[in-house]
Amino acid sequence: MAAPRPPRLDARSDELADEVARVAAAAPDWATLAAVNRPCVACPELAATRQHVVVGDVPSGGRPRFALIGEAPGANEDETGRPFVGRSGALLDQLLGEAGLSRSEAAVLNIVKCRPPGNRTPKAPEVARCSGWLRRQLELLDPPVVVALGLSAAKWFLGPRTVLAQVRARPHEVDGRAVWATYHPSAAIRFGPRGAPRAGLLEDLTAVAGALA
Ligand code: SF4
Repeated sequence: MAAPRPPRLDARSDELADEVARVAAAAPDWATLAAVNRPCVACPELAATRQHVVVGDVPSGGRPRFALIGEAPGANEDETGRPFVGRSGALLDQLLGEAGLSRSEAAVLNIVKCRPPGNRTPKAPEVARCSGWLRRQLELLDPPVVVALGLSAAKWFLGPRTVLAQVRARPHEVDGRAVWATYHPSAAIRFGPRGAPRAGLLEDLTAVAGALA
């Protein structure tokens, strides 16, 4: 098979989302998709400042039981090339365990694969360009359940007018999957151990575990 090719650089900015989607859709498996995603430079600012494209983690054997999907890599993720490995990742692992879930059964992904400088929120064109990668990841991995962590991920699945407090605590059917939207672990850290985001995140992960049982 020919080596995978990253998106062309000569496409106009507003054509890059289509170009990424076209390249991603042509990848027949996870390894090929990851290989073609890593050299992606569709977002010039992010490509110039990132250390790694954080493609995501997948379980070693077979279809994930569920997918955890966050917003974008942070500093630790950018440095290591792996999703949710900093303080947010440690808290996520802890709360998954308390809920009776294991990260080893999950795909762990982000809607944007490169760290925005200064951890700013990804811009709409960056989300649009990177969506082709995530869409193909979901097609190939086919997780029956998705947990969208934080508002950016919730909006990706449920629409731009999504209000987290109004959609969390119950599943929403999107493209044949059960999508749960809940707080991002970084919000749980920011509001502290007695804050509502941490309690809400644990409550929602526990509900997901119940639905998967
Ligand atoms: S954020 Fe996504 S689309 Fe943009 S350069 Fe990184 S991998 Fe490519």
